[in-house]
Amino acid sequence: DHHRSSHLTQAFIHLDHLTHNMNLLQSLVGDRPLWPAIKANAYGHGAEIVGRHLMDMGYETLCVAHVSEAIDLKEAGLNATFIVLSATLPENSEYLVAYGCEPVVCTLEMVEGIARVASRTGKKVAVHLKVDTGMGRVGIRPDQVVEFLDRCRDYPEVTVKGIMSHFPMADEEDKSFAVRQIDLFRQVKEASRGYGISVYHFANSAAIFDLPDAYFDAARPGISIYGLKPSLSMLNPRVKELKPVLEWKSRITFLKEVPAGTGLSYGHTFHTQTPSLIATIPLGYGDGMSRLLSNKLQFLIHGIRCPQVGRICMDQCLVDVTALRGRVEPGNEAVIVGKQGNDEITVDDLAQTLGTINYEIVTNIAKRVPRIPL
Ligand code: PLP
Repeated sequence: DHHRSSHLTQAFIHLDHLTHNMNLLQSLVGDRPLWPAIKANAYGHGAEIVGRHLMDMGYETLCVAHVSEAIDLKEAGLNATFIVLSATLPENSEYLVAYGCEPVVCTLEMVEGIARVASRTGKKVAVHLKVDTGMGRVGIRPDQVVEFLDRCRDYPEVTVKGIMSHFPMADEEDKSFAVRQIDLFRQVKEASRGYGISVYHFANSAAIFDLPDAYFDAARPGISIYGLKPSLSMLNPRVKELKPVLEWKSRITFLKEVPAGTGLSYGHTFHTQTPSLIATIPLGYGDGMSRLLSNKLQFLIHGIRCPQVGRICMDQCLVDVTALRGRVEPGNEAVIVGKQGNDEITVDDLAQTLGTINYEIVTNIAKRVPRIPL
């Protein structure tokens, strides 16, 4: 795998910042367990690197979206307990049981599928029941919980260890919907007393910062462990203490002086106004940089913000470095996300320019970009 780091566009993963963020989140929730989410390749940061560091810190329960992610990580030697968050189908029960996962369930068919495999292999499986208190996605309705738990008693191989729910709007300034969800979840907790549920869990990153009433028995932070804010409208000033784990950097591979009026890259969407010095950067949509950022992206080179010009191609893009004439040469660093000199480009900057959220920017970083732990 060593050859991979020959790709000059690289993602640097600051594990000291991951530690800092986990400690910050832990200080908010007290001694409740945190079950960090490392789904989607740890939000693009590299699930093996991030998962291993979290385990070294003592976090032994990690959340993924799909059983395939849990299997990849187990095969890579991460002996964590994986909570599998997304709904799946009974046909995946074999995998879920074999790899000791704790699936999130919201149908009796899933419970039955898991129970069948478990009884054949003599195992007991802990599952988490998902209740839809307002996300409007997977999960049973609150009024169905007691009946569901009653029916689960037919499957002694399956223990409903947790009951959980999820917030669609905990990151918004107006917390009223989230507060109503917490009320509903409290009623679910009350109604399910006597069914031996050991963990009620609800809080995502936004709730950890802004809704202490959602803490219950465990929390599932995702975006914040990577030092990114759940949104730009968080209330708790402590979100400012988060430190970004990712820096995304590339290098100049080629430089060329071109005359005024030169059309650049596919479609000639940009023409130079004056004689210009144009650098090539080995970053394209094949690396997960959206082509919609063509002519909008900026790079930090020698501490100066330089505009990306022309269409972003699959593997390369162009940047106007005329302002750095005489000071710039092939091999120089071009920062996509991170600090250089006194300036910094953040994931939020890219997200705002593109009209999306920081989650999508980092999750899209392509597989061929090496993740370098620091
Ligand atoms: N819990 C569930 C069920 C999720 O789907 C997610 C992520 O989408 C999280 C927790 C983590 O959320 P966040 O990244 O906003 O902290």
